[in-house]
Amino acid sequence: MSSSGRGRLAGKNAIITGAAGGIGLETSILFAKEGANVLLTDISQGALDKAVAKVKQLVPNAGRVESKISDVSKEADVKAAVEYLDSWGGLDVIFNNAGIMHARDADALDTPEEIWDLTHNINVKGVWFGCKHAVLALRRHKKQRGSIINTASVVALVGSATPQLAYTASKGAVLALTRELAIVHAREGFRFNSLCPAPLNTPLLQDWLGDDAAKRHRREVHFPTGRFGEAIEQAQAVVFLASDESSFVNGSDFVVDGGMSKAYVTPE
Ligand code: NAD
Repeated sequence: MSSSGRGRLAGKNAIITGAAGGIGLETSILFAKEGANVLLTDISQGALDKAVAKVKQLVPNAGRVESKISDVSKEADVKAAVEYLDSWGGLDVIFNNAGIMHARDADALDTPEEIWDLTHNINVKGVWFGCKHAVLALRRHKKQRGSIINTASVVALVGSATPQLAYTASKGAVLALTRELAIVHAREGFRFNSLCPAPLNTPLLQDWLGDDAAKRHRREVHFPTGRFGEAIEQAQAVVFLASDESSFVNGSDFVVDGGMSKAYVTPE
C-alpha cells in the first residue's frame, strides 16, 4: 500500500524515536508503506540519513519521510521533534521506541549507579517526554484521536535470568506509566499501549552468539516456536496499534514473543 491517500495509516503524521536501526527502522518502512508521514529521530545524523535513504528506496511513493536529531533523554529535543510536525498538521502517532541496554548493567550489587541513571534517563524519562509532548500536540491541534506506543519488553513481565537490573526495572516503569496514561487520557481519544518484544534476531545478538550452537540452543529453547523473533514482526504489531483498527485497544501490554512468556519449556 502506498501513501497516495491510501493505506492503513493514510493521513497520519508519526514520529518514531530510535528510528535509525532495529525495530524503529523496520517500523519506519512499514509506516511509510501504509501511508503515514514519518519523522525518524535518533542520536546520529549519519545513521538517520542512511535510514531515510533506505525508507525512500523501499517505498518510492512514500509521503513525507524526514529525520531530526533528538536525544529522548533531553526534553528540549523531544519537544522540538514533536513541534516539527506542527507544520504537517500536527502529530497523530508517536512510537517511543528508543532504548538502551548497557553492557555494564548487572545485578543489584554490580550495577553502577551511573548506568542505572543513564538507562532510566533514556528508557523511562525519554518515554515520559514523548508522551507529554504528544498529549500537548494532540490537544494543540484539537485531535479527536491519537496513538502513543511505548516500547517495553517481555523482561518487564517475566524478569531475566541474566542480570540486567536497570534495564528490567526501566521497562517495568514503561508498562506502569503507559497503563496510567491510557486511563487518564481515554476520554480524550488518546490511546497508550506498550509493546513487549521478546529477544530478537538482531545483528547484535547473532554476532554475539556466533556459531556456538550450544549457546544458541540455550536461548532458542525458551521459544515455543524454536526461534527468535524478527524486528519486522514487532513493526507489524506497531502498525496495528498505530492504526484505527486498534481503536478499542488501550492500556495493553501488547506482547509479541512467539508465546515465550506463556511457556514452561524444558530442553528435550
Ligand atoms: P537498536 O539498538 O537497534 O535501536 C535502538 C535505537 O535507539 C538506536 O538506533 C539508538 O541509536 C537509539 N537510541 C539510543 N539512545 C538514544 C537516545 N538517547 N535518544 C534517541 N535514540 C536513542 O535496538 P532495537 O532492538 O531496535 O530496540 C528498540 C527498542 O526495543 C528498545 O527500547 C529496546 O529496549 C526494545 N527491545 C528490544 C529487544 C531486542 O531483542 N532487540 C527486546 C525487547 C525490547
